[in-house]
Amino acid sequence: MAELNSSICISSVLATVLELAGIEKREGIDNSNPVVSALAEKKLGGKKTDRTVIYNPDAVALWVYQKYTEKFVAAHMCSDFSMPMLSVMPSVTPVCFASMYTGVLPDVHGIKRYEKPVLKTKTIFDDFIAAGKKCAIVSTSNDSISMIFLEREMDYYIYDTVEEVNAKALEIIEEDKYDLVVIYNGNYDGTMHRHGPEASESLAALEGNVAFYAELSEKIESCWKNHNVFFAFCPDHGCHEIDEGCGSHGLDMEEDMNVIHFYGIKTL
Ligand SMILES: [Zn+2]
Repeated sequence: MAELNSSICISSVLATVLELAGIEKREGIDNSNPVVSALAEKKLGGKKTDRTVIYNPDAVALWVYQKYTEKFVAAHMCSDFSMPMLSVMPSVTPVCFASMYTGVLPDVHGIKRYEKPVLKTKTIFDDFIAAGKKCAIVSTSNDSISMIFLEREMDYYIYDTVEEVNAKALEIIEEDKYDLVVIYNGNYDGTMHRHGPEASESLAALEGNVAFYAELSEKIESCWKNHNVFFAFCPDHGCHEIDEGCGSHGLDMEEDMNVIHFYGIKTL
């Protein structure tokens, strides 16, 4: 068993977002993140958020944050706090994002290995849609987030490259059409698998993820002055180095199970 650095699981993201937005949680969903709840109480009092933006960079491990903290300065500057979070097993992308956005563990949502079926379990998108709200996913083609949440009454912006994804994300924030925006960047994960978690190519991708998150936050700040916004940097699982200078994840080990999340609330 991995030694864990947090008692709070990535599956808490759904309950946390719903609680802040004042959307009713389904029965059995009561695992909201107490640190974010306390921040919301402090910054919003009884008010609710009316916009949510979750940025999902793939595979940003807690140990990578601890070893290269200087690369995360911009993420700290635009967030209220960061905290270690616990991933789910097996620590692979579709399993983890299914837990993050259904609020439940793999045994309940049903994706228990590397496969990308459309989820039949209720997700955060279903909760927002049921509350009369609009959602968008901005992601790259064939990636988990682009596939497992399909077939909902919402907008999917799927592109070939991270650059196109990020340009579109900034554009839809400016247009201010959505209550919930989820953005996926898989470039650190991709370079990490090919070259190892600490290779220069991988660290450059990581720096790109942090820079984009900061840019996203600036865009929210400048375009959404009349909204209370919950925004976050939420990777799915960590990573570890394997033979031949490559990287991997999926195991019940510290490097794969402990991730770093950043959270912020922008008030009116
Ligand atoms: Zn992943």
